[in-house]
Amino acid sequence: MGALTGRTALVTGGSRGIGRAIAERLAADGATVAVHYGRNAAAADEVVEGIRAKGGTAFAVHAELGVEGDVATLWESFDRQVLEHTTSTGLDILVNNAGVTPRGEIDETTAEAFEEAVAVNMRAPFFLTQQGLKRLRDGGRIVNVSSGATRIALTDIIAYAMTKGAIDAFTLTLAKALGGRGITVNSVAPGIIDTDINASWLRGNEAAERSAAELSALGRVGRPEDVADVVAFLASDDARWVTGQVVDATGGSQL
Ligand code: NDP
Repeated sequence: MGALTGRTALVTGGSRGIGRAIAERLAADGATVAVHYGRNAAAADEVVEGIRAKGGTAFAVHAELGVEGDVATLWESFDRQVLEHTTSTGLDILVNNAGVTPRGEIDETTAEAFEEAVAVNMRAPFFLTQQGLKRLRDGGRIVNVSSGATRIALTDIIAYAMTKGAIDAFTLTLAKALGGRGITVNSVAPGIIDTDINASWLRGNEAAERSAAELSALGRVGRPEDVADVVAFLASDDARWVTGQVVDATGGSQL
């Protein structure tokens, strides 16, 4: 029996990158996992099939976030499918992971890029959580994926950093609001992780990879699993006394 056997988890952006690793880890720990995706159904199906092949339970949930009706679409899909895979409609673990990273200094950031970052990174997790609270069982877990960019000033992702700062404020305040129900709320703040978000400037560029690795005290670029393991801890019973925190998972970047 795994640490999360009998629990149900929803991972937004579970189809690729960090979210995929989180979905796979929570499923390996025994949770039934709803793997949310936006545009890439094939990637979500691959994650679901991979989990099932290892004896786990998962299903895909589609919703484009940051658009009108996004949250309702996601929860409708979740509600429709969850009873096919578990015996109750409730949720135990909500991981707000899906995000976009618009790049640009302050004078390069367009209103469209700014609005998209706010809609996907801030607005969607807020209302997804709001509408999820009636499904989330007492004693549940909310984990928000933030960023090391709230601690380290990276001028070329200034709008993105703002949205993640808002997520950390959300985490702190929501932890207080939900403490009476025994629900913990924490942020995990990754550093540079080798995912598609960074592919354009990182992959195949030795100099960029070297300087990204040098940011970390541990001397390498992060892997999705490095973050997923921290999320799994926060989702587990072992983390019952940790709430309202931002857990740095940057591999000691710029200490
Ligand atoms: P990826 O680009 O690899 O994956 C993003 C995931 O989010 C995909 O599953 C994608 O689904 C989903 N997604 C993105 N936009 C939307 C949208 N509008 N609607 C629905 N789904 C969407 O990203 P990462 O794994 O790198 O990032 C995951 C989280 O980690 C983000 O919040 C990011 O800010 C944060 N983070 C990442 C870091 C890094 O270095 N990689 C560092 C610090 C934080 P689909 O493919 O179907 O569109």
